Amino acid sequence: MHDVSDNNPETRFICDDNLGKLARYLRACGFDTYFDDHISDSDLITIALDENRHILTRDHKLTERTLVRKYFQIEDDNWMDQLRAVISYYELRVSKKNIFTRCLEDNVLIETVLKHNIKTLVYPYIYEKHTGFKQCPQCKRVFWAGTHTRAIIERLTLGGIKILD
Ligand SMILES: [Zn+2]
Repeated sequence: MHDVSDNNPETRFICDDNLGKLARYLRACGFDTYFDDHISDSDLITIALDENRHILTRDHKLTERTLVRKYFQIEDDNWMDQLRAVISYYELRVSKKNIFTRCLEDNVLIETVLKHNIKTLVYPYIYEKHTGFKQCPQCKRVFWAGTHTRAIIERLTLGGIKILD
């Protein structure tokens, strides 16, 4: 796995195992967000300290531990409310150019690929219709600007999240 931290000066996060959906949407907005749904509390804290990540958690017991200093306590049940709370607390800027820059599964930055290199990986009509393709270096999923990106932007906007250009 290549290190993406140097590419992104923004605040980095690690979500506890209850916050999978929040983690995916933070990634969709381009924020470096570690998530593993089988992680132990002690591993979560170790990674947060080693990788300078802010812990996002619903667990009050976790935030009472002395090693945990950089954290945000999530109180909302709904992922959209959670996302809004995180964006507001950290004063994050969500911009169109950062949406879908990161793989939702692996959290790594996706890379621009030559069109002919991914020909066998997408449906022919997608291949014909689009010009710019990106790929996750880890899981090899292929992404293109289209309905998916629009749907995310629409959903965030409906949720009251301001999206900059
Ligand atoms: Zn991936």
